[in-house]
Amino acid sequence: MLACVKTAIGKTEMLDLPIPKAGPGEIVIKMTMCTICGTDMHWLDEIPNEILMALSPSSAVPQGFLMGHEAVGTVHEVGPGVTRLQVGDRVISSCLTGCGRCVHCLHGDFSVCTGGGRSLFGCEAEYFVVPFADVNVTKVPPEVSDENAVLATDIMSTGFGAIDRAELKFGDSVAIFAQGPVGLCATAGARARGAGLIITVESIPERIEMSKRLGADIVINPKEKDPVSEIQSLTDMQGVDVAVEAVGTPATFEGVTRAVRRGGTASLVGLYGPVPQVSMFTMTASFYHRRIVSTLCPSGHDRMTRMLELVRWGRVDLGPLFTHSMKLTDTPKAYDLFRSKQGGVLKIALTP
Ligand SMILES: [Zn+2]
Ligand SMILES: [Zn+2]
Repeated sequence: MLACVKTAIGKTEMLDLPIPKAGPGEIVIKMTMCTICGTDMHWLDEIPNEILMALSPSSAVPQGFLMGHEAVGTVHEVGPGVTRLQVGDRVISSCLTGCGRCVHCLHGDFSVCTGGGRSLFGCEAEYFVVPFADVNVTKVPPEVSDENAVLATDIMSTGFGAIDRAELKFGDSVAIFAQGPVGLCATAGARARGAGLIITVESIPERIEMSKRLGADIVINPKEKDPVSEIQSLTDMQGVDVAVEAVGTPATFEGVTRAVRRGGTASLVGLYGPVPQVSMFTMTASFYHRRIVSTLCPSGHDRMTRMLELVRWGRVDLGPLFTHSMKLTDTPKAYDLFRSKQGGVLKIALTP
């Protein structure tokens, strides 16, 4: 089968590899659509293969690390012990898998599993393996497009997670810093959950347009105005009820901590990658009475089902986030395009 492999920092190659086999509790999925995510870029450009493969030994092939963690497909093989799934089912798996048995999984926090769950990998291939399949895999209703199904596995759940873990109430004001794919999902999530004023912060023209389309009332361009002072003046100098950080930079972290009102919630979903530490202003009124919530893609069967139900019944359609479509063989080119952020690229659909 064809698979995208990271052979060196910043370099991917398409290789012909054996189709994987399903071990106990596992399934093998035949991919029908996959995509590249911002997390893939951290893995590709910043983290050496030795570290990635040490974290997850089964992610290794002799040539390197198997790329990709967001995909939809049909069940190709069912391993021993899997009871909920059959060959031919159209399915997704959360991009972070839980074991279903450790203390975190029993709390419902599958994405921070310590019992052997792991990030998916190898989804940018014709076939890939999902561990603990009964816990992490959900059947996709026929009304849900491949595009929306792929997004439910990670960025939709992550962006919506920024909003629901902030416990946003009907009519709350929200500011979302950065409108990349995850930030745009947070915008759509704020609208779906009943926010009042939705302010977003973004400078790329295509992303500004998409932000308005998915629910932003006001988009602040940080190249033209200071986002924090603008947010303060839009909220009678009180700050927003919820401020979301969706890119993972010290500047946007500082932005959300200063844009939130007294008693409000700063909600973090950016991946800080190479940023080892962030700091907060203590000389602001809001410092002494607020919540800070960080979220790693809420995962597991129940979460995936809920995301798919929002799409199935027409509450949300994130299909427009797919700006480009390419063949799996062109995945290395797709990485270059995604990294460049040129041509209005948000998500790239990759099909066999
Ligand atoms: Zn992802
Ligand atoms: Zn677990």
